[in-house]
Amino acid sequence: MKPAYLALSLLLFSASVLPQSRPAPHRSVVQKPVKAKPAPRKVDPAQAIHDSALIIDTHADTPQRFLDEYFDIGENTPVSEGHIDLGKIKKGNLGAEFFSIWVEPEFKGHYAKRALDLIDAVYQQAARHPDQMTMAFTADDIVRAHEQHKFAALMGIEGGHAIENDIHLLRDFYRVGVRYMTLTWSNTNEWADSSGDIKDPNVKHYGGMTDVGKDVVREMNRLGMMVDISHVSDATFFQTLTISQAPVIASHSSSRALTNHPRNMTDDMLRAVALNNGVVQVNFFSAFIDEDFRKAFFDPEKMKQRDAEVAAFAKEHAHADGSPVGYNEVVGLEKKWAAQFPRPPLKSLIDHIDHVAKVAGVDHVGLGSDFDGVTSLPQDLDSVADLPKITAALYQRGYSKEDIHKILGGNLLRVMRDVEATAKRLQAEQKASDPLTYYQVSLMLGNRITSAHLIDVVREHGVNFDLTPERREEFKALKADDAVLDAIAKSKKK
Ligand SMILES: [Zn+2]
Repeated sequence: MKPAYLALSLLLFSASVLPQSRPAPHRSVVQKPVKAKPAPRKVDPAQAIHDSALIIDTHADTPQRFLDEYFDIGENTPVSEGHIDLGKIKKGNLGAEFFSIWVEPEFKGHYAKRALDLIDAVYQQAARHPDQMTMAFTADDIVRAHEQHKFAALMGIEGGHAIENDIHLLRDFYRVGVRYMTLTWSNTNEWADSSGDIKDPNVKHYGGMTDVGKDVVREMNRLGMMVDISHVSDATFFQTLTISQAPVIASHSSSRALTNHPRNMTDDMLRAVALNNGVVQVNFFSAFIDEDFRKAFFDPEKMKQRDAEVAAFAKEHAHADGSPVGYNEVVGLEKKWAAQFPRPPLKSLIDHIDHVAKVAGVDHVGLGSDFDGVTSLPQDLDSVADLPKITAALYQRGYSKEDIHKILGGNLLRVMRDVEATAKRLQAEQKASDPLTYYQVSLMLGNRITSAHLIDVVREHGVNFDLTPERREEFKALKADDAVLDAIAKSKKK
């Protein structure tokens, strides 16, 4: 306390704290000088709204930094190196983060191992900082952590290839805490088309999803894992919405009407998510939120230059074992490259949030920063510490406290609860009827059950799927004979 202020306090103390009429206390104790109440500080209403919110962000790529760079979330890092650490989280009042378990397609043959390593890296951070951070798996967990003033860490898998076409692995990922899965990353996998390569004639596409892909969505509903439609192709998106019995999320996607990138969502898609009662979490990446930046960034000539630079770097830093040079190695170069384009104003990001709120409704928009996964952020938004600026901008545009709280996290929490309730219902229903799933039949075939035995089981329990031509071929590949296929075809239960 400064001396002048102390003097003022004492003056106030003698003048007002001890009323003249009050008798002196009986016991002769030395009364401690009571601190005068400082004049009420003018509270910034936007900051007050921000401080009272439970803020949830649904996409940050920090786990690679945990794992590959041995980054500790307790370290204070310059914004040039990272967008997230505990100090910045506190400053930005972030309540919960969905850390992205992003498996680079370069890890082919080891997708699940890589995903598990990244998952472990998130748990390790929570274990190192138990006083400030905790793992969370449900909407209630997030609320509880917030009440305990702890930052909640959750996880989402980015790219369905991580489950290696194995529904059992999907369930295992749920068990170790994964609470959403982005059906594809930029790569089309073996059961769903991605927006990232949809124009590449060398990639086999399905016009959306295969039967397996549709079953993955159903199983995610049953498990209570949120279905994330960021990154998927438009056809995959619309098919997902016809299948999913629970609301979906776009964990990090912006508006295509404002910034014309296939990663962004058209107004029709925004309205479809609203009908599904889901939520679109707006991505902060400069190239997804500002049309001028996007054009400059993706200029074909510039892209050629960038690709050449990255190729030269990869050649220079080639791995002795011939394995490909990964994202982590070139991210520095990519950041430097992106820095040549002037950052768009923060207004561009706010325009996207505003647009989604107007087209889909304020109940269907949220924040999906893509922190630590993008090479450029809008001006004034250097890291998670700057989240209050988003609240201030929304407040200036006339958004009410209630609506801002929905955008900052309330909507996501509602969707998560809805997904949890849907899973409960589906699990109860499944117990009651108990027909065999496609995967159970595949597993038994793969484990060489005899035809006679399988036919008995199928007739007794029935199956819950149609024997489509695609499934028929897959069962045949697992050596199912005609009698088995016939029994399956006749045993569909409603
Ligand atoms: Zn992404």
